[in-house]
Amino acid sequence: MIRIWVMFVCLERHHYNKAPLVWLSMCSYWGMHHPALYKLLLTNLVIFVEYPVENTHSIIRSKTNTHDTAEQIQKKAKVVFQSKMEQQHFKEHFTQPKKPQWSLNNLKSLKAKCANILANIFTGIAKNPGKAKISTQGKTTKVLLPKIFGDEPVKIKVLPLGYCTSTIPDQSSRCDLPGCNINKDLSGKIFEGCSHSFHHSCLGEIQFCPLCQAFLAKKAESLSKTAKEAILNPKEKESVNEQSKNLPADDSELEGG
Ligand SMILES: [Zn+2]
Ligand SMILES: [Zn+2]
Repeated sequence: MIRIWVMFVCLERHHYNKAPLVWLSMCSYWGMHHPALYKLLLTNLVIFVEYPVENTHSIIRSKTNTHDTAEQIQKKAKVVFQSKMEQQHFKEHFTQPKKPQWSLNNLKSLKAKCANILANIFTGIAKNPGKAKISTQGKTTKVLLPKIFGDEPVKIKVLPLGYCTSTIPDQSSRCDLPGCNINKDLSGKIFEGCSHSFHHSCLGEIQFCPLCQAFLAKKAESLSKTAKEAILNPKEKESVNEQSKNLPADDSELEGG
C-alpha cells in the first residue's frame, strides 16, 4: 500500500495520492485497537477488495447530480439498482465468479508476451547509450527518452522517485547529499528505487535514501492533512475542486470505478 501511495504521489494523482493514506491510517488503527482484524488483513490481504464499493459509487455518481439532496440520492440509487440491467451489473461485481476468468495457460502466454515487449524495449535502450536527455524550460523539467516515448520530451515524473524530489539525482556525482564536500573518490551506494547515490561515509548506518524519506514524510503530512480536512469538513470540497481545475488537463483527477 505504501508503494502504491508513492506511485500516486509521483504521478500527482488527486484523491489517489490521499486515499491510500486513509487506508494505511485505518490499518494502523486496527493494529492498535483490534489486533485480530489486523492479523486477518495481514494474512488475507488479497480478499479485501474495495472494487464493488468503488463501482457502486461510480454508478450512483453517474446517475445523480452534485446538488441532489441526500433523500434524492437515496431515491435515485434505489431506482438505479431496481432496473434489471443494472441489477445484473451489480450482481456481477458483488458475487464471486464460480471459476477464474483466466486459465493458467492464458496467463503464461500473456507473461511471455509482456517479457518479449520489455526485452525489446530494454535492448533498444542498451543499444543507444546517452540518447536520453533532461531539459528545463522555465519551471518545467522534461526528459527525452527516445526509445520509450519517441522524439517528444515527457514529464520528469516518469523517472524513478528521486526525480520527483527537489534534489534530482546527479549522475556525474558519487553523492547526492546537499552539503557533501568529500572530494576524494570514496566508495558509495546507489538506491535503485530512486536513483539517488551517496558516499558510504555520508550515509552512515542509514538503510534508506534520506532525501526521498524526507520528501515522502513531507508529502504524507501535507496530503493527510488535506484528506482529514476534506473528510471532517466536506463543505471545503469546493475549494479542493477549484485547485484541481487550475492544473493542466493530464494532472486532473483520475475518475474512480
Ligand atoms: Zn557524500
Ligand atoms: Zn532517493
